[in-house]
Amino acid sequence: MDRNDELFERAQRSIPGGVNSPVRAFRSVGGSPRFMQKASGPFMWDVTGKKYIDYILSWGPMILGHGNPEVLRAVHEACDRGLTFGTATEPEILIAEEIRKLVPSIETVRLASSGTEAGMSAIRLACGFTGRSKVIKFEGCYHGHSDRLLVKAGSGMLTFGHPSSAGIPAGVTADTIVLEYNNPQQLEDTFRSCGSEIACVIVEAVGGNMNMVKGSPEFIHAIRDLCTRYGAVMIVDEVMTGFRVALGGAQSVYGVKPDLTMLGKVVGGGMPVSAFGGRRDIMNMVAPLGPVYQAGTLSGNPVAVAAGLATLKLVQAPGFYDRLTSISRRLTEGLTEAARSEGVPFCADYCGGMFGLYFLPKVPTRFSEVTRADTAAFGRWFHHMLDAGCYFAPSTYEAGFVSIAHTDKEISHTIEAAREAFAALKAG
Ligand code: PMP
Repeated sequence: MDRNDELFERAQRSIPGGVNSPVRAFRSVGGSPRFMQKASGPFMWDVTGKKYIDYILSWGPMILGHGNPEVLRAVHEACDRGLTFGTATEPEILIAEEIRKLVPSIETVRLASSGTEAGMSAIRLACGFTGRSKVIKFEGCYHGHSDRLLVKAGSGMLTFGHPSSAGIPAGVTADTIVLEYNNPQQLEDTFRSCGSEIACVIVEAVGGNMNMVKGSPEFIHAIRDLCTRYGAVMIVDEVMTGFRVALGGAQSVYGVKPDLTMLGKVVGGGMPVSAFGGRRDIMNMVAPLGPVYQAGTLSGNPVAVAAGLATLKLVQAPGFYDRLTSISRRLTEGLTEAARSEGVPFCADYCGGMFGLYFLPKVPTRFSEVTRADTAAFGRWFHHMLDAGCYFAPSTYEAGFVSIAHTDKEISHTIEAAREAFAALKAG
């Protein structure tokens, strides 16, 4: 029994499942989760001192790699000035201005502390603005764990085989319509039957919670057109994709202008910051300007905002996203080639600094295809890679991430380890 096993046993006595967020628990791949003690650049070290190349990056935020010195300096300086005031502060204006500049569909923006809050608030706002109550979401998309959105919501719940959570009264989700991702016809039919009751459509334009599944341009533009035609609010959830797939997020990749956008992860640079923002006329409905209530003791926290602001400055370096994309490309092409040469059915895809690995013959376009992945093969591959010091997400329903700190050396090591892992799978 190593120290990870010991800590996991001890953790389970005081913490449900030993973890503070379910997908950390290695449930679908088996074994003890690794307890990390430190991280630097593209690496993390667990409590036994074992070093890993990190392809989770705290589930997205650490786009600069861990421990970026400029981010740390900004955080330390902010700490020295005070941890929280619960008042307005100047850095909140600076980050709001930066967000508006980088994501032009956002005219004004409200900060919160988690993607869940951003999603919950955005749909409340859409309902308040339109005076309607129906919300359309798509199967396999996750928008946080607020009650109305926790239906067929991807990753964590899929990993544990529950499409939706217990404990949510049926009435709460009665107005949540769940449709198939990448199916514009079904969306159009739904609008035709009840379009005047639909407050909003919420979507991950590049899905990252059913592994990575890209929205087709027709699908994303159909959402825009139908929302405009029927007076519904289009919400693009960029908690994962914002400043990750491109500087302007997924909306810049598709050339689509949502009415509201949710941000999280990278926007906080590793600290708890999220945001929702968009059209000024809609945002003016939020308290104190309007009747839609939303609040937070630590919203716009100065230490968290300092990390976010420093991160947003650094991702604007010339060529940043070209480099990030080429890292994802090298990794996914190398893994695909390694699997092909070993004769294992596997494919991969990427978008900016985000990627998907699929134990499937072809890249999936919707949730039902993702569910066909060979989870047993993935579990064995995952553990082989973990032993070889490559830390991927412990589920076939999660996307992966690279940072600008990942160099050719780490990518080559990963591809070589993967070649052995695929060979071991083949050998049975
Ligand atoms: N939306 C998306 C697209 C996400 O990926 C996540 C988190 N993985 C959330 C919302 C929820 O964010 P948080 O975990 O910060 O509540």
